[in-house]
Amino acid sequence: MSEKKEEVISEALKSEEKLKSQWYILTMGGDLVTLDEFDFKGHKNLQTFSGYEVEKDRTVTQEPPHVSLMKSLELVDYEPASDPGNMRYYPKGRMVKALLEEFVTGKVLDYGGMAVETPIMYSMNHPTLANYLNRFPARQYTIEHDDDRYFLRFAACFGQFLMAHDATISYRDLPLRMYELTRYSFRREQRGELAGLRRLRAFTMPDVHALCRDLKQGKKEFLRRYKLVEDTLTGIGFEKDEFEMGIRMTEEFWKKNKRFVQSFARRFGKPVLVELWKERIFYFVLKYDLNFIDALENASALATDQFDVENGERYGITFMDEDGREKHPLVLHCSPSGAIERDIYALLEKAHMGMKKGIRPSLPLWLAPTQVRMIPVSEDHVALAQKYAKRMARSKIRADYDDRPERVQKKIRDAEKEWIPYIVVLGEREIGAEEVPVRVREDGKLHSMSLKKLASEIKKQVKGKPYRPVPLPMSVQGRPRFVG
Ligand SMILES: [Zn+2]
Repeated sequence: MSEKKEEVISEALKSEEKLKSQWYILTMGGDLVTLDEFDFKGHKNLQTFSGYEVEKDRTVTQEPPHVSLMKSLELVDYEPASDPGNMRYYPKGRMVKALLEEFVTGKVLDYGGMAVETPIMYSMNHPTLANYLNRFPARQYTIEHDDDRYFLRFAACFGQFLMAHDATISYRDLPLRMYELTRYSFRREQRGELAGLRRLRAFTMPDVHALCRDLKQGKKEFLRRYKLVEDTLTGIGFEKDEFEMGIRMTEEFWKKNKRFVQSFARRFGKPVLVELWKERIFYFVLKYDLNFIDALENASALATDQFDVENGERYGITFMDEDGREKHPLVLHCSPSGAIERDIYALLEKAHMGMKKGIRPSLPLWLAPTQVRMIPVSEDHVALAQKYAKRMARSKIRADYDDRPERVQKKIRDAEKEWIPYIVVLGEREIGAEEVPVRVREDGKLHSMSLKKLASEIKKQVKGKPYRPVPLPMSVQGRPRFVG
């Protein structure tokens, strides 16, 4: 019985601890130079990232700034009744997360991903899975039930691979792209590593695999997916500049595929941190990750992709090749955005870092829970505010109105505290007027424009993004307060 209680730590995790890595910077010229030799001038974030990676210390000693923001904006909070690292999402947070989920999924479908759904728990006694668990560097939750032992999935890999194992696949079907947005994937991260939305025990992961015929097809697909990654991250509201790339590979892969790795790194456009392993301990020969450096100078991987040379065989996935022989595919594992929660974390940390430089914090317009707030100057103007908010909502713009019996200045201040991008104050002068005064958060100025013009300006900025209505009643007075 005592054996059952023992923590399940995979062999991969144990070997990761023992792992000796060699660290380099891959320059724009395609050379590997040691960290000591590289001149980090003008590459401050790369230096921070390199230091963070070499240390491999994931302990959190200070609360990251996004934690107080996720609460004060009433997005997300800790759930004291759950296991730490499992969060509650208030209506605004749920909406932001849902929009991100829809956007990333849309990108993957455009790329050609076939969406599937697979179980969240699997038997630990399934021979393939038991073997795989030992190759994946993560800690699992386990559940005992009917004399069997199950683990909660930490990625979508198993479900998709088991499905591919049972499928009949021809070389003509390759690359075969399978996608699932896991809600949730579970990892039993150590308590000291948990920090707000950055590292969780239950998270939402877009996971897209591609089965490829061989390394040649795999490389082509890998580059195509890099484009998916870039489009996804910039579409969310990040800039390419805000990331540092890490490429991790075996020495052998580097030696045999130097030109491919060099040209891939050149697409990123900046020097890249390289981690080289003498032997292959994981199931992949190469993986890369794009890392966001936060306000406390911690690095967090968002997007990633991997060349997996083991699991085609391990899971018995086969395809019929042109020569009539059954072969195992090469598998690519990609998350184009990283965990959705981590995107929210990075957006909030980014807003915080901007604030330090004197930039008014905001979320990307397409994610702002309220895009336009109508503020009536008195009770007499509530009807007008309501009418205008509804008019905006009909054009699929998230508008609400502040009908509380408060002074106008207080209402404006509260709207600013919510980071609302457009505030319209409505009084006597605005009744029947063509134009209304719009306070634009981005430039801090008052612009006079028609509602139609404001609507078309917003529509232009959120073009191609999913839409959801305001996540709370349109009347601010009719809203509960969730935090504080
Ligand atoms: Zn995977």
